Amino acid sequence: MSLARVFSRAAVGVDAPQVTVEVHAGGGLPRISMVGLPQTAVRESKDRVKAALNNAGFQFPDGLLTISLAPADLPKEGGRFDLPIALGILAVTGQVNDARFEDIEFIGELSLGGGLNPVHGLLPAAIQAGRSGRQLIVPSANGSEAALARDTTCHCADSLLAVVAWLDGRDLLAAAQRPEPPLQPGCKDLEEVYGQQRARRALEIAAAGMHNLLFRGPPGTGKTMLASRLPGILPPLEEDEALDAAAVASVSQAGLDLSHWGQRAFRAPHHTASSAALVGGGSQPRPGEVSLAHHGVLFLDELPEFNRNVLEVLREPMESGRIVISRAANHAEFPARFQLISAMNPCHCGFHGDRSGRCRCTADQVKRYRGKISGPLLDRIDLHVEVNRPSRAIINGHGPKPEDSATVRKRVIDAHLRQMQRNGVPNAQMSNTQVRQFCQLTPSLEGFLETLAEKLHLSPRACQRILKVSRTLADMDECDAIGEEHLTEAVAYRGLDGPTSH
Ligand SMILES: [Zn+2]
Repeated sequence: MSLARVFSRAAVGVDAPQVTVEVHAGGGLPRISMVGLPQTAVRESKDRVKAALNNAGFQFPDGLLTISLAPADLPKEGGRFDLPIALGILAVTGQVNDARFEDIEFIGELSLGGGLNPVHGLLPAAIQAGRSGRQLIVPSANGSEAALARDTTCHCADSLLAVVAWLDGRDLLAAAQRPEPPLQPGCKDLEEVYGQQRARRALEIAAAGMHNLLFRGPPGTGKTMLASRLPGILPPLEEDEALDAAAVASVSQAGLDLSHWGQRAFRAPHHTASSAALVGGGSQPRPGEVSLAHHGVLFLDELPEFNRNVLEVLREPMESGRIVISRAANHAEFPARFQLISAMNPCHCGFHGDRSGRCRCTADQVKRYRGKISGPLLDRIDLHVEVNRPSRAIINGHGPKPEDSATVRKRVIDAHLRQMQRNGVPNAQMSNTQVRQFCQLTPSLEGFLETLAEKLHLSPRACQRILKVSRTLADMDECDAIGEEHLTEAVAYRGLDGPTSH
């Protein structure tokens, strides 16, 4: 045989398109020719593969070897194609049984000694291999990650020799083992938050309907403390959501941390973070914080301090749940269905409206500071909540004992299930058609909202958000219809809308 074909997968965004490695052995002077736009790392793989084959005791063929990675227009980085290339060479020279090559995909980087090293961003490939009905062979160090793809049969190997022995039917390979889910989410508890009834209520509504939220208040009032407790009261991730989120982490710069498997992300980038770090970027596009927060929480503290352009970029994923990154030749799309929780001071010095009277900002300065958040961004934030300093008596624990996260979460899950049964999505993600269908108001409530919208200069989008929050409040009360109390409470959370904020 003079031509061998081996299947593998590239990494493009969170996608893993199939790559066919073809190896052709011809006569002539010993030489390796690689086609299919291989980048530097793939060219280096020639040398690694040659050393690995020799050191593992195989024969490296004389004559011209042509290696093609197709399709040619896919960017291919990293050493993930070492293993399929080596197997192709062994097949074309009759040193391995290739009878099952049609049903298997191979990914792995070879060490010079013939061992298999882990590769970056493996999970999307594992998911895709299963969808195309093939088994996948991965380096042992990637085994747990690959095993998250429940519908794919994955085997792990430590070396090229082990893979060859398995293909020849001389030995077995271990099945990839799924990691145990962590024992506890490791999120701080709401029972430590005294007072703040209004902010706690808003946090529960945000959790119940997956609504975006903005806390505004002086420093030290517990805005961050409240926000960081949100993951602890959110409904659990569904299996496919957990897999989507893990796939993003898998292709990120830092890679997948299996100890976070199955948990909702809480990402809190600093306001000095670069645009690429926040929304994604790079010559080989990598996901940013907005995508690492997929199906989780993106917490932006000191919202007005973020680069205005970056904040405006957030508007698109807040609507679509996706973000497109285009860089020169490369183009990638990442999921970014995050829940935005943000916090800001009331003014530049932070003490506007505080009992201490420390604020010396002029009305113009306060207005300018708040104007840093554009109207269109504010429109997309469903709940605006003022947070004030609790009294000393409450901080010292003289008030009633606060509810713990587990109690709150039970109510959140009930309200969440009502939404999923009716809408199939959390209320915050309802389409306009769904809002018309599921958020109907009585004629008198309709009139009330219209009058209010005019008075407060609410945009049509803000009104949509009010209806969605009303729907969540009704769900929390187990009501089929939105009542007056639901609508008035929802409107009360639009405190930062209006002419001064535009
Ligand atoms: Zn001030």
